[in-house]
Amino acid sequence: MQPSHFNPGTTTRHDQHGLYPQAVTVSDFQHNLAAVQARIAAACQRAGRDAASVRLLPVSKTKPESSLRLAHAAGCQMLGENKVQEAWSKWEAMQDLVDLRWSVIGHLQTNKAKLVARFASEFQALDSLRLAEALDRRLQAEGRSLDVFVQVNTSGEASKYGLAPEEVEAFLQALPAMSALRVRGLMTLALFSSDVVRVRQCFVRLRQLRDRLQQSAPAGISLQQLSMGMSGDFEIAIEEGATVVRVGQAIFGARPLPDSHYWPGA
Ligand SMILES: *Cc1c(COP(=O)(O)O)cnc(C)c1O
Repeated sequence: MQPSHFNPGTTTRHDQHGLYPQAVTVSDFQHNLAAVQARIAAACQRAGRDAASVRLLPVSKTKPESSLRLAHAAGCQMLGENKVQEAWSKWEAMQDLVDLRWSVIGHLQTNKAKLVARFASEFQALDSLRLAEALDRRLQAEGRSLDVFVQVNTSGEASKYGLAPEEVEAFLQALPAMSALRVRGLMTLALFSSDVVRVRQCFVRLRQLRDRLQQSAPAGISLQQLSMGMSGDFEIAIEEGATVVRVGQAIFGARPLPDSHYWPGA
């Protein structure tokens, strides 16, 4: 098990969300992307990690097509969206950007699996067997495959989606039968709080779960990737082993509505 790189100086920035200005030009996006990459590099340095071991996934939810086009022009080749319908509409509108790929990072109803199977390259919120089966069936029909992350509820909040940590081991055993799903790792949303200690515990829980399950995971199931951390807490997540950080507001600018709108109970 890797050591925790506990850094008492690393804080959350949830209270600063309203301060992220809107990016309205390609150079705004370039500037914001560079600033986030610098924060990633600094967190990696504190943790004794290689900055290349962390992938930045820009999250474009709620932002208009024009913003997404600017982000793409600034170098973003994959965008994260939490609602499949919104992601689908944006994908349809931006088919001219042939190198732009889509990661769906939010809860998905089984009856929407066919949409994801058609256009997404990655799905980070796998949390039920029914959904896994529906996705696999639709992907087989499309002749496609999909990178997936199993979402784990590490905060214990009823409002958060994801499997309970103790359910993940049995869940993984069923996945090799679904050959269109390429399991890459685990994903979580930490407690949405300025209580750094409790936020960090969520990330530690995901890493420890991964470390333990790596021993028993079936052949073909990789748990290498840990998707955790967003604008307000990604430095802490990196200190605890994140390999993917999902960052929206620090790149695109603050969202118009408070976070309680996106995370009930926050
Ligand atoms: C919106 C969202 C993020 C990014 O949050 P920001 O505060 O914009 O960085 C990360 N993960 C998920 C699942 C999200 O829905």
